[in-house]
Amino acid sequence: MKLTNNHNLPQTFINVLERPTYSKGKSNITATELLNSPRIVQLKRKHWDDIEQDASEMVWSLFGTAVHGVLEHGKDENHIVEERIHAKVNNWNISGAIDLQEINEDGIIISDYKVTSDWAVMNEKDDWHNQLNLYAYLVELVKKQPVKKLQIVAIIRNWSSRDAKTRDGYPQAPIVVIDIPVWPFEKRESYVHERIALHEEAFFDAETGGAVKECTAEEMWEKPEKFAVKKEGGVRAKSVHDTRDEAVAALPPKGYFIEHRVGERTRCASFCQVNQFCSQYQTYLSTKETV
Ligand code: SF4
Repeated sequence: MKLTNNHNLPQTFINVLERPTYSKGKSNITATELLNSPRIVQLKRKHWDDIEQDASEMVWSLFGTAVHGVLEHGKDENHIVEERIHAKVNNWNISGAIDLQEINEDGIIISDYKVTSDWAVMNEKDDWHNQLNLYAYLVELVKKQPVKKLQIVAIIRNWSSRDAKTRDGYPQAPIVVIDIPVWPFEKRESYVHERIALHEEAFFDAETGGAVKECTAEEMWEKPEKFAVKKEGGVRAKSVHDTRDEAVAALPPKGYFIEHRVGERTRCASFCQVNQFCSQYQTYLSTKETV
């Protein structure tokens, strides 16, 4: 990957970003890749040397890495910090690095530390459940000890003391611990097998010159277009619809209009490192231009 420094960040940041902190060893696939869209994984593997990323976009993930220093320094005797666990599942070597494992007599507590936003904490994501249950699967498979608890330790980078006093449901401190339900072992196992099958297919397609499956709406963080019926001069919509026809049918005879709220693929547009190499996204953009 080509790292750029368009905003003249201090060289120390650049040095840290250029020095990888882990190797995935002998694994075919990391837990992070397994959880990711197979299309993104394949495009990254193919175009890694051509991907450009600016250091300024990586600052928060750098702080996420810096938290590991805190874990190392603050650990107790029964804590294992940043252990990379390797497991063989369906002939795939999977590895996952776990931030913190607390070893107790009645089971292990797994914690994942995230530097994230207040919005993410208030809108808990399925991704967190998938990730931590994948870790629980790997730990139980390899260590043969039960996992009794999963938790996200969220460090909220944009926490506001004012919002904490005035907004309902707003986190009351800049660090919050969020419990994640532990799935039964069978559910974790079938989830992992499902992810492996998806990636197996994508690897096969990529290696044989086939078309790698497209990303789903969920993987693209897609917000579909909407049609809002609004009063002229008003701010809030009277009603919001999936199609223009539905909005037309709901339009009162006088004094209202239809506002078209354009849909978007947020991840493709702003958060996907391979969007310039992705035919799915490029086709979407060209279709949008001609509408
Ligand atoms: S640009 Fe969008 S569709 Fe293409 S790989 Fe990235 S997330 Fe998937």
